[in-house]
Amino acid sequence: MASTKLNYRNDTLMLGFSDLKRLRSERPLVLTGGRGIKVFDERGRDYIEAVSSFYCVALGYSDEELIEAAIAQMRALPIYPSAIDRTVPAVMELAEKLAALSPMPQTHVTFATTGSEANDHLIKFIWYANGFSGEPRRRKIISRWSSYHGSTIQLTALGGGSDLHRSFAVPTDECLYLSHPNWPGGAEPGESEAAYGDRLAAELRSVIEQAGPDTVAAFFAEPVSVSAGMYVPPAGYFTKMKAVLDTYGILLVADEVVTGFGRTGQFWGTQTLDIKPDCMTSSKALSSAYQPISAILMSGDFYDRLERGSTEKGWFAHGGTYHAHPVAAAVALKTIEIYERRNLVAHVRDVMPAWARGLAALKDHPLVAETRCFGLLGAVQLKQPGDDEKVPASLRIGGLPAQVYQAGLEAGIIVRPLANCLVLSPPLIITIAEIGELFERLTRALDQVLKDMP
Ligand code: PLP
Repeated sequence: MASTKLNYRNDTLMLGFSDLKRLRSERPLVLTGGRGIKVFDERGRDYIEAVSSFYCVALGYSDEELIEAAIAQMRALPIYPSAIDRTVPAVMELAEKLAALSPMPQTHVTFATTGSEANDHLIKFIWYANGFSGEPRRRKIISRWSSYHGSTIQLTALGGGSDLHRSFAVPTDECLYLSHPNWPGGAEPGESEAAYGDRLAAELRSVIEQAGPDTVAAFFAEPVSVSAGMYVPPAGYFTKMKAVLDTYGILLVADEVVTGFGRTGQFWGTQTLDIKPDCMTSSKALSSAYQPISAILMSGDFYDRLERGSTEKGWFAHGGTYHAHPVAAAVALKTIEIYERRNLVAHVRDVMPAWARGLAALKDHPLVAETRCFGLLGAVQLKQPGDDEKVPASLRIGGLPAQVYQAGLEAGIIVRPLANCLVLSPPLIITIAEIGELFERLTRALDQVLKDMP
């Protein structure tokens, strides 16, 4: 691949999730191309994208059908906002397709641009529904501490985690936090999986009681907490949580922004974990991230409450220029058609054993404390400084994931360092041979960090 030289002033562009001071003196990694599961930098070096960018490029970086779908829609009608009793065919078709695929009864669908927007808008809709159902006090939203649901003010608050919301002084008055389910790591010594699930449900009940049940609106949860470090709940967790929520009339929202479209081995993460949500949000793999689009899926019961409010007011006063962008909708429709035609969920199930084996083998590495695997997701938990003689206490906390990330770039792999983990979520099209290559490169990166250890 030809390299592209770019003139770049380091002090102009601000990059999120980056060290702003370092950006002044160090050139960021500049990517200029992609093919399959790999991306290429300006020097022509290739990297396996082991996180599919931000867990999103399900079909890899060079799917011609998606490119053609975008071009065709661009030629037909490049933009028309879907609002004010107007829309375009691709958007109508995409809504029908998602409703047909939805695990919820009588699903209604609307669109936004990002996963953050989908979650943020849904909170707004929930407040609207409660206001018109005579429960305007029901505003508080429950989440798990250190989860990630997006970057708007409300979602920064909801996610928890000190760097994300405390450093920005984001108000968290209407947020309630629970512990992360993490089986088996989060259980007490000797606690059974069932007892651990019961304890988490009891925590939920106690948080609701303390907050005042008539002030709590919804519980937002990812089926598997990916950005928190890929934690898997104990069996039956969501059934137990849902039973508590139902007692108090609180909605369950499944954030499927990462887990949708086959990532967990079934079409939705809610199906893999037998979750019965009232609403769902989706994005990322919805269009394989070739275009920004997200969807809010609402059960018939919930939607009826929005309709009642709208009937009272004469309209549903919400919308945006780029929500349901026609080009994004056309690409999303093509993406779903490809998932079905190429039977991508079956492909994911076929490669899952190789994925699980590759992750399990890393447990033997001297820098690795444990690994977690779920569907085509994984986390490599690194040892903490002082854990043993291989990882001395003098090592800066959080230093190991950053070092492995850097060594990964040298070895030709991009991973996501989060907390004390490396989170992995490769494109869903990855083959068994490519899984082997991915773990070979990751092991090389770990070996290099071990070799350079003080
Ligand atoms: N929800 C989850 C579970 C996510 O992981 C993310 C982003 O990574 C979001 C929501 C926000 O999506 P976006 O970055 O498109 O706003």
